[in-house]
Amino acid sequence: MDKDTIWSNILDKIKSELDSLAYQTWFQDTELYKIENGIAMIIVPYEINKKIIINNYKDLVDNCFREITGNVYELELLLQEEAEVTPSIVETVKNDREEEVVYEISSNLLSKYTFDNFVVGNSNKFAHAAALAVAESPGKIYNPLFIYGNSGLGKTHLMHAIGNYIVSHSNKKVLYITSEQFINDYVAMQKKESDGTNFNYVDFFKHKYRNVDVLIIDDIQYLSGAVGTQREFFHTFNTLYEGNKQIIISSDSSPNDLAKLEDRLKTRFGWGLAVDIYPPDIELRSEILKKKFKELTSINNVPEDVIEYMASTINGSIRNLEGAVTRLAAYSATFKVELNLKTAEEALVDFINKGFVSEKNDIARIQKIVADYFQVTVDDLRSKKRSANLAFPRQVAMYLCRQLTDESFPKIGIEFGGKDHSTVIHSCDKIEKEMKKNKELEKTIEKLTKEIR
Ligand code: ADP
Ligand code: MG
Repeated sequence: MDKDTIWSNILDKIKSELDSLAYQTWFQDTELYKIENGIAMIIVPYEINKKIIINNYKDLVDNCFREITGNVYELELLLQEEAEVTPSIVETVKNDREEEVVYEISSNLLSKYTFDNFVVGNSNKFAHAAALAVAESPGKIYNPLFIYGNSGLGKTHLMHAIGNYIVSHSNKKVLYITSEQFINDYVAMQKKESDGTNFNYVDFFKHKYRNVDVLIIDDIQYLSGAVGTQREFFHTFNTLYEGNKQIIISSDSSPNDLAKLEDRLKTRFGWGLAVDIYPPDIELRSEILKKKFKELTSINNVPEDVIEYMASTINGSIRNLEGAVTRLAAYSATFKVELNLKTAEEALVDFINKGFVSEKNDIARIQKIVADYFQVTVDDLRSKKRSANLAFPRQVAMYLCRQLTDESFPKIGIEFGGKDHSTVIHSCDKIEKEMKKNKELEKTIEKLTKEIR
């Protein structure tokens, strides 16, 4: 039995033992990476899976291993990025005269990242379009394709999507590698060039990197400072480029901003197309949340206000959105509660306090906090109603929006019942003057500001 079969048998057993939510939350997207020296290494999608599986399901997993393989292994849970990728020499072909080593090199592609499950919005549509174009005609249009942006915005996902697309639409050879793996291979080659065995590391290295049709190298910024490796990469790049092989690179910054990288490499990175991915806007965040609930959990029909709450409070990276989704699923499974706005707020309280929230506050969030404080509704704050019990909270909310967001007076006016910008200016002035006279109000504003921040 190969490892994938073993694992899929084990997962079937686990599935039959657990309720479907627990199964989906903790075991979906896990993978048996390898079994070596009595240790079964399992890849899990999030840190939290490690803890929960070891604490709650270790016996179950052990039993399943025993039943399926006849053995019990020590479990080691790893995130994808923690699993090193080791080369495997698959077979040694002998012929009459000489011994020839055949290297089988895995593409390292993760099948879970595809174009189908990549949600497109304003912040990533350019990168997505470029990626698809390259996937459709590798080596022909943008070479190299350079994708850059902050962490957690989908660069790795897009790169695997390109690779998977090419593999399934052609018989081209694709290799995905992180720049750290490239460094490791290079260092191994340097060290072991002469370790006395038959294994020829130089041969292996050249074969691995120069014999591909598509080389995908992730997080190139880590080559900074590795001088020898950069030189080697330069030669690899040239060989592939001259052979019209596609090169795809990602980084946390644009080619020009890559510190400590040789100029000749930066120049080459600019030869093709460089595209950036921005943080998702609220619309894309909502779409992604809906998709992730479907993909990562078995919770159907997530209430619209929960999505809205999450999309407006959690931003920055898409990894944070995924973390929040898993957390909500775990929370509602553990405490057996229905998912609604209240339980969502409870479940995410730590998460949000840990700073996964917007640095930029948005109007909707401020309105919600102010409305709760004065015990009125957000709809009232946003309405044209003029009653005195609403006028004051509304002025406070407008003042806070002006202080804590980058929004203009006219935009704030629109969000508060279509008020003219002069009304907003007047309200802000009024609150400011009032605060100087009224200690109580000053404290209230301070408290609200703290909560919003
Ligand atoms: P990066 O490489 O830029 O740090 P990743 O590609 O690892 O980011 O993305 C982080 C997580 O967010 C991954 O699980 C990925 O599937 C998910 N993700 C990112 N962008 C999208 C998107 N547009 N649609 C769906 N999932 C996405
Ligand atoms: Mg990445």
